[in-house]
Amino acid sequence: MRASKIMQQRVLNTPNLEVLWNTQTDEILGKEEVEAVRVMNIETGEKKEIPAQGFFVAIGHKPNTDIFDGWLKMDENGYLITEKGSTRTQLAGVFACGDAQDHIYRQAVTAAGTGCMAAIESERFIGENK
Ligand SMILES: Cc1cc2nc3c(=O)[nH]c(=O)nc-3n(C[C@H](O)[C@H](O)[C@H](O)COP(=O)(O)OP(=O)(O)OC[C@H]3O[C@@H](n4cnc5c(N)ncnc54)[C@H](O)[C@@H]3O)c2cc1C
Repeated sequence: MRASKIMQQRVLNTPNLEVLWNTQTDEILGKEEVEAVRVMNIETGEKKEIPAQGFFVAIGHKPNTDIFDGWLKMDENGYLITEKGSTRTQLAGVFACGDAQDHIYRQAVTAAGTGCMAAIESERFIGENK
């Protein structure tokens, strides 16, 4: 699990939740509506169907930074690494902000804040490096 410890505990301590480890969704099944979900164990390849009336997807847990792989430094989860208190990356003139760089807060207002920082730092960089 990559969720925070507190979120992990909430899930693991909820009696009517079952965690299917090493499992991914194979297909959502049903004619008019959701009737079942077929899942696959990624270690054994074993598939099974779970009857279900709904399917909820959690999104936004992986930063969309693959495009920068090999160009910008990132942590093991793909978040771009910037200098402390700045949006500077290791490449001069390249600044990173928002959810691509922030693995702690990941909120609209913090993304807007670091976006503003990156804009100001970019403007200064351009001004100083004409
Ligand atoms: C389900 C969910 C619920 C949330 N609820 C809240 C909430 O209640 N309150 C709150 O404050 N925050 C919430 N957030 C977080 C908030 O949405 C983000 O923190 C914020 O949108 C991050 O802004 P961003 O500009 O960094 O990234 P994004 O908003 O993700 O913007 C990135 C943009 O880059 C574009 N892009 C990606 N790749 C490329 C490419 N190769 N070329 C060009 N463009 C590209 C994308 O299409 C996208 O438009 C929620 C997020 C999720 C997923």
